[in-house]
Amino acid sequence: MTRLDCDLVVLGSGFGGTLLAIVARSLGLSVAVVERGTHPRFAIGESSTPLADFKLARIADRFGLDWLRPLAKYGPWKATYPHLSCGLKRGFSFFRHRAGESFAPAEGNANALIVAASPTDATADTHWYRPDFDAHLVERAVAAGAHYLDRCEVHTLRHTKPGWEIEGARPDGAVSVRAGLLIDATGTGQALAEALKLEAVDPAQLRTRSRALYSHFRGVAHWHDVLGPAATADHPFPCDAAALHQIIDGGWMWVLRFENGITSAGFSLDPDRHPVRPGESPDAEWRRLLDTYPSLARQFADAVPTRPLVRTGRLQRRLTRAAGPDWALLPHAAGFLDAWLSPGIAQTLYAVNRLANVLADEPAARARRLAGYGDAVLRELAWVDEITGTCFECLDRFPVLATAVMVYFTAAIYCEERERRGEAGPDEGFLLADHPEYRAAAAKLFAAARTTADADAFLAAARRALEPYNSCGLCDPRRRNMYPYTASHAAR
Ligand SMILES: Cc1cc2nc3c(=O)[nH]c(=O)nc-3n(C[C@H](O)[C@H](O)[C@H](O)COP(=O)(O)OP(=O)(O)OC[C@H]3O[C@@H](n4cnc5c(N)ncnc54)[C@H](O)[C@@H]3O)c2cc1C
Repeated sequence: MTRLDCDLVVLGSGFGGTLLAIVARSLGLSVAVVERGTHPRFAIGESSTPLADFKLARIADRFGLDWLRPLAKYGPWKATYPHLSCGLKRGFSFFRHRAGESFAPAEGNANALIVAASPTDATADTHWYRPDFDAHLVERAVAAGAHYLDRCEVHTLRHTKPGWEIEGARPDGAVSVRAGLLIDATGTGQALAEALKLEAVDPAQLRTRSRALYSHFRGVAHWHDVLGPAATADHPFPCDAAALHQIIDGGWMWVLRFENGITSAGFSLDPDRHPVRPGESPDAEWRRLLDTYPSLARQFADAVPTRPLVRTGRLQRRLTRAAGPDWALLPHAAGFLDAWLSPGIAQTLYAVNRLANVLADEPAARARRLAGYGDAVLRELAWVDEITGTCFECLDRFPVLATAVMVYFTAAIYCEERERRGEAGPDEGFLLADHPEYRAAAAKLFAAARTTADADAFLAAARRALEPYNSCGLCDPRRRNMYPYTASHAAR
């Protein structure tokens, strides 16, 4: 029997939970990490962003984790950890497909949008190949002295107020862990939500509606090659080195290329417009969707899944509490919206930073600080729902969608600029979630986005409303939806 008495127990060893365990060790706390599965393992949620990178670098600097810093940018990652697979992410690209038609660029790129997030490959973001990335963090956590208990099925989670008792079983025997503080990093595992019977928000109240169908593939063609040289001449960077968003009727597909020959791809589908057809297998549905869009069928003509396709039910969920006096949920355990615009990794790293500050603070301040943490996580999930749900309502009106997406990019880049100048406070809200003036401007724009058919007027309105935050020239019709840079890159 394994018996441990620790300051902190972390349930779940995705990158979020493991990173927090590493930080806790650097603060001298005793930590147990309890994981149901084992590494390396498949995980979804792979596309990082500049804000995620800033938060990762901040954790590295603040807690003296020199080995972590190279993982915050593509160039240093490749130079330092060539054995950990990743993909190059220079920004975001979006293409609107029509059923039965091959994709061809429309006048003024009215069916495409590319926004660069970095000026060079070396300073670019990455797609994290999670089997490698997460396993590496676990190795680091163990090296830092965390007790790592994998293949552990937790059967009892007892809240002893204060503190926790956890009992479980591993292949080699029973496990008993006592800890003063518990962090639930189980994501969709929902360990604490079930144990504490935490109430969920009524799904009808969530604006975003999607289900997913996804896997990893080999043999996915470069979208750049499918398009051909004439159609890509004005692209500010190779459009595959991106979180590639292929937009279809009532949904979209993510395509994220790693450099080990594997590509992560999946459809996110409005369940009302794409209900699961009785008797149709995930493979058959995948094939049918590709066959509806000739250019996507070409991109995936030789693609072979490396593992069975996953078909989910509706993805959206949010709890009504994300923390108590001696517990907290990471964002992916507290809720989820959609992969659209890749907010998940960044939001998780915001949360890890905040929890790290809680751990570093006086124990007497913990309950108060955790309450603030929980409120922030829920507020930010609600804000991401607002962004994602509004964008989904615009999927059929691409020029309006392109402007709605700018509301997100403006907030993201504004926050990046603050990070770059060292002005961002440790508890600053994700994507300006706590900025009343910006949120009021965004709310008005989103209300208009949901109904307007006048894309030019909407773009002009967005340009005016976002002007105080738009430091990098978004919403500029002269750019014809091709944005070669999005921030003051001199400092990068
Ligand atoms: C379809 C989809 C696409 C996504 N795409 C993106 C994207 O492109 N970019 C982005 O930023 N984010 C994306 N996300 C979100 C991203 O997956 C999460 O933000 C991220 O994985 C959170 O990391 P984490 O460490 O908190 O949890 P996870 O990565 O979910 O890890 C949870 C861990 O807990 C373990 N576990 C589960 N239950 C238990 C239990 N009872 N006991 C012990 N261990 C348990 C699991 O085995 C796993 O190791 C996506 C999510 C989904 C569902």
